[in-house]
Amino acid sequence: MNAIHRVGFIGLGAMGVPMAGHLQAKGLLAAVGNRTPAKAETLAAQLGVTAAMAPSDFAGCDAVVLCVSKDADVLQCCRDLAGILAAGALVIDHSTVARETALAAAALLAESGIAFLDAPVSGGVEGARNGKLSVMVGGEADVLARAQELLSAYALRVTRMGPTGAGQATKAVNQVLVAGIAQAVCEGLAFGEALGLDPESLVPTLAAGAAGNWFLDKRGATMMAGTYTPGFKSALLLKDLHIVQAMAEALGRRYSVVEQSLVDYGKLVDAGFGEEDTSALIRLKRGG
Ligand code: NAP
Repeated sequence: MNAIHRVGFIGLGAMGVPMAGHLQAKGLLAAVGNRTPAKAETLAAQLGVTAAMAPSDFAGCDAVVLCVSKDADVLQCCRDLAGILAAGALVIDHSTVARETALAAAALLAESGIAFLDAPVSGGVEGARNGKLSVMVGGEADVLARAQELLSAYALRVTRMGPTGAGQATKAVNQVLVAGIAQAVCEGLAFGEALGLDPESLVPTLAAGAAGNWFLDKRGATMMAGTYTPGFKSALLLKDLHIVQAMAEALGRRYSVVEQSLVDYGKLVDAGFGEEDTSALIRLKRGG
């Protein structure tokens, strides 16, 4: 079992930048890469690590961590790394993708003797910044044991949910709750505005009682002020909801929160608000 000393990180967005920073603080980060290379150059210079301009720049890494956008991006990164990393290396994917994508990634890396963990995260950019993410892992227990030290750089809780794909299945459940909470909070706060209630009193009053939750706490005041800086982009939640819907359909189920959220976030993305935080849902609730 190879120890992990040199880690590469691919995907330097809202989540990836702070997560890579925590790995650097632990002395584990060797190289960072990103689709738009300028982001990798800037962060590499800040952290004093290699800016990976090609997959070959990750050669010699014991582990490479992914936090990219979509399924195709994860598979592309895994194909690139399969030809580069040594047998015995490990790829950990923190992106939110389909369970089938996790299975495909694990299979293609296994052909080169490279281990894989699907390890989607929850906790938002705040959780990434303060190192308090919840990590839901699919894969072999001994592989996770090898990754524990690395994951502890930015995780409050790491849970093995089962074999490969179980992490993404858990994240799909998580996104049903995330979408439902966004629906309830955005609708409730729009209702409060329509009733003429003072937002500065309303949000902390609700947050102190049984209606309190992470989304209200972190996004309530900003959405009422009309600010929707991600955070978590609406286009990414729409991507997740399509994954959830496909999984539910495979079970012969339809869930009203998921169906309504697909319609609403589809409208937001079509209207050009896909890069805004998921709290931009209040735009629709104000209109309705
Ligand atoms: P983001 O801000 O859009 O960042 C994604 C990053 O990945 C961008 O820097 C992008 O490069 C890079 N990227 C995409 N495809 C790539 C590829 N093929 N090769 C290399 N780099 C690539 O997204 P995020 O909010 O950090 O989220 C990342 C993942 O975590 C998503 O799957 C998301 O659903 C999930 N997630 C997000 C949150 C959240 O609160 N934001 C929470 C939990 C999970 P460019 O610079 O070219 O765009």
